[in-house]
Amino acid sequence: MRIVLLGAPGSGKGTQAQRLAERSGIPQISTGDLLRAAVARGTELGLEAKAAMEGGRLVDDSLVLGMIRERLAEPDARAGFILDGFPRTLVQAAALDGLLAELKQPLDAVVQFEVDPAELVRRISGRRSCADCGRVFNVLTSPPPTGAAAICPQTGAAHRLFQRADDNESTVAERLRVYEAKTRPLIAFYRSRGLLRVIDAAGDVDAVTQRLTQALGLTPRAAAARRGKSAARRAARGKPAVAKRAAGPKAAARASAPSKARAKRKRTRAAGKKRAAPARARRSGGRPRTRR
Ligand code: AMP
Repeated sequence: MRIVLLGAPGSGKGTQAQRLAERSGIPQISTGDLLRAAVARGTELGLEAKAAMEGGRLVDDSLVLGMIRERLAEPDARAGFILDGFPRTLVQAAALDGLLAELKQPLDAVVQFEVDPAELVRRISGRRSCADCGRVFNVLTSPPPTGAAAICPQTGAAHRLFQRADDNESTVAERLRVYEAKTRPLIAFYRSRGLLRVIDAAGDVDAVTQRLTQALGLTPRAAAARRGKSAARRAARGKPAVAKRAAGPKAAARASAPSKARAKRKRTRAAGKKRAAPARARRSGGRPRTRR
């Protein structure tokens, strides 16, 4: 599964990417997390990215692309990835296309998270992250758990929650403006490639997870529907193959006439059914069995 989660800051991409990663074992790759880690380590990349991040602006495409190229080359990304916060510009989206074509790993889907702008601001104000494991919580919509689940897997102690420096009111306004100007055009970009799925990302976190897994065909019902569709596709593909085999008059006769072996198998099956019928009737109390 190779997917992109698209959506404004605060739309819940990070939370849902985390959930999906836990469920599928496929890594969540968040460019925001990678950049924050670079800033915290004081690397050259981090130093270059810091000012843009603090101002709510986008980090230079070339820096982000170099970082993502390296990350996608890591072994865990071979099984797939959930891109969260990348791509954010048309230049990044085109570069990702090229990179994935090189790796022969095209995207499976892009999911757009739709949330009302007023709700985005409310969610961002409640967002808290654990300083140790990086897990994201929201004191308003998905508070940190209590009891055993409250333990940070990195330290074995309680999560140490902090609020991101760029989650303040003025920076949030700029980030939302940048999203509209630079990232929203990606919706049309991916729609034209037939990859886009849009979900309503408002409301309860569990309900959004449900909508996301359904959009990706990961719920049992969606998976069954997908199996049904591919069976139908296989059947449709089978038709021309038979017609092709039966092209000439001799071949057509061969294809339509039951072979001796096939006729024998049919007779054996019919005899078997006759023998089994009384035993089945006994087991079902003599009632006729209906096929469901
Ligand atoms: P996020 O955690 O995704 O909200 O990202 C936090 C900040 O990191 C953004 O406001 C940008 O400054 C920067 N950033 C993250 N991802 C990208 C990206 N794909 N392109 C440019 N800047 C990014």
